Amino acid sequence: MRQLLICFDVDGTLIDDTVFIWQTLHDAIATDPEERRAWEKAFWNKEITYAEWAQHDVDMWRRKGVTRRDLMQYLTPLRPMCGANDALNALHDAGHVLGIISGSLDIALDRAFPDWKTLFRHVFLNHLIFNEQDVLMGVRATSYDIDHKADGLREMARRTGFALTDTVFIGDHFNDVSVAELAGLSIAFNCKSDLLARVADVVVDGTDLRSILPVIRNAARQD
Ligand SMILES: [Mg+2]
Repeated sequence: MRQLLICFDVDGTLIDDTVFIWQTLHDAIATDPEERRAWEKAFWNKEITYAEWAQHDVDMWRRKGVTRRDLMQYLTPLRPMCGANDALNALHDAGHVLGIISGSLDIALDRAFPDWKTLFRHVFLNHLIFNEQDVLMGVRATSYDIDHKADGLREMARRTGFALTDTVFIGDHFNDVSVAELAGLSIAFNCKSDLLARVADVVVDGTDLRSILPVIRNAARQD
């Protein structure tokens, strides 16, 4: 059996009840939708970088004085995707290396998967920064969201010594297209993007993450 590097998207793939965690938090914190849209537009028009966009969004939250405790409370409804813990443990126990390449936030994983640091060898996502009083101070933005998710897979494969042919990526939306095109095996799960469904090697229907296990077992058996 081949050992594989298996990387996951987070929002909508490992975590249910959210399409994008940033949106969920903006709604909960009640930031100004106009300002939010302006920064989003500036990013897509290439007027600001992804890191600047993340910083502007987090500044909107900082101006509301939010703490880590507030954010964790706003994320209370977040649940792991159905079957996610079983699927992750099965893949981990089978000897595969697990990773995350996501534009989500570390606190979303803290909320839905308290033991995520033992499950995943490498994690590329956005990290929030808090002071000693747990007041939000800033964000350490990932270099690997959207079109750069593919670079994230390349970098993670290099760090772990896997050939790209021995990599798997599982995601749900348009921001997973670049990495789906690069991965040795790409799985569209809980899919909300026609483009992702077209470029993925396999589309897994339904919302039970255990449904990816037969696909990965099959791939691991092939040379
Ligand atoms: Mg997603």
